Amino acid sequence: MIDSPDRMMFDVTPEQRAVGDLARALARGEIAPHVAAWDREHRFPRELYRTLTEAGLMGIIVPERYGGSGADYVSYALAIEELAQVDAGTAVTVSVHAMICVAIEALGNDDQKDHYLPMLAGGDVLAGFALTEPGAGSDAAALRSTAMHDGTHYLLRGRKQWCTNGSFAGVTMGMFRTGGPGTRGISAFLIDNELPGIVVEKVTEKLGIHTSNTCDLAFDDVRVPSTALLGAEGSGLTNALTALTSGRIGIAAQATGILAACLESSVAFAKDREAFGKPIGSFEGISFKIARMATDLDAARLLVYRAAALADRGAPFAVEASKAKLFASTAARLHAAEAVQIHGGYGYTTDFPVERYYRDAKITEIYEGTSEIQQIIIGRSLLGRLE
Ligand SMILES: Cc1cc2nc3c(=O)[nH]c(=O)nc-3n(C[C@H](O)[C@H](O)[C@H](O)COP(=O)(O)OP(=O)(O)OC[C@H]3O[C@@H](n4cnc5c(N)ncnc54)[C@H](O)[C@@H]3O)c2cc1C
Repeated sequence: MIDSPDRMMFDVTPEQRAVGDLARALARGEIAPHVAAWDREHRFPRELYRTLTEAGLMGIIVPERYGGSGADYVSYALAIEELAQVDAGTAVTVSVHAMICVAIEALGNDDQKDHYLPMLAGGDVLAGFALTEPGAGSDAAALRSTAMHDGTHYLLRGRKQWCTNGSFAGVTMGMFRTGGPGTRGISAFLIDNELPGIVVEKVTEKLGIHTSNTCDLAFDDVRVPSTALLGAEGSGLTNALTALTSGRIGIAAQATGILAACLESSVAFAKDREAFGKPIGSFEGISFKIARMATDLDAARLLVYRAAALADRGAPFAVEASKAKLFASTAARLHAAEAVQIHGGYGYTTDFPVERYYRDAKITEIYEGTSEIQQIIIGRSLLGRLE
């Protein structure tokens, strides 16, 4: 039997479980029948987000007073895991959207919260995040896009790369340089995507997560009012990292969902497929792979739920979120390869979903901080900065 979150000895409340169950039902009913075709067509299923909004999942972590579901981080993690078990692309779309909602709630002023949160929780508006540039990824402080003062406005100029949800977003949290070099010269803005001068330059073709949208955005003298500043001028990198810390719970949950899907497919296949007159699951060479997969799934879940529970308590959770993301993403990538191996030649074909899990798993080790960056965060928490 594959353990469910309730059997993890982790205190999932009935309310949290209900959110996970809702996401599970929706994923299996509305996404599973289409996901193979969407993946093949590299299609972003825009219409799906109305259904997810109606189910309360697009405003999952937004307080009820802003029209959201008011769920906690543990519920959010359970929901992302369930979506990712069926489609990792949908899971990251929802996760990035939620990350921006969390950032607005944590860093925004009352006007920004009143304006954006109801729209993001209850409407069709998707949110995106624009930090990375062609010359600045892990080293985000090297970003070069500028926001120049222009009376009561700023003029945004530059290129942002690989923006998840970018082509469909109604609002983007974007980081631009308002001052000199280094971390203190960066500010965060909430930018309405229909403003003149914002151009989708390129939709990125990817190895996996084909149902998520990734694009490069050009900002050619985009005029935003000074009220678009999110947080204080000069605090943009800190604000971006605050957003990413919560986002890592989502990506760790996404990786955990991929891992759970690998286990489900592998168990079913190993019981059914026969070789040398026996089910292949009777060979230790196969059952040991499945045993490791199940053990790492438990470990990933516990790390994700711990980080989420700390966030719910208002306790520091950055290092725990990094550990969860590091472990879950590594395990997802390793076990997706093992799932393909267990399925033999069938695993390499599109007749089974494990080839998709294999392609989808890799990105979880890269975005929202690579595994190397997570190790830097974890290492520094123990050693400090030894420079
Ligand atoms: C599908 C997809 C979606 C994305 N979505 C978004 C998004 O919505 N918004 C956004 O802003 N960005 C997004 N990104 C960008 C993503 O966050 C970056 O790709 C990631 O942070 C890594 O940056 P980089 O690709 O520039 O790699 P680099 O920073 O150039 O790193 C290259 C390699 O060097 C390693 N490395 C770098 N520095 C160190 C170090 N100090 N020590 C050890 N190793 C190091 C890295 O770990 C990596 O292995 C997305 C990327 C992809 C592919």
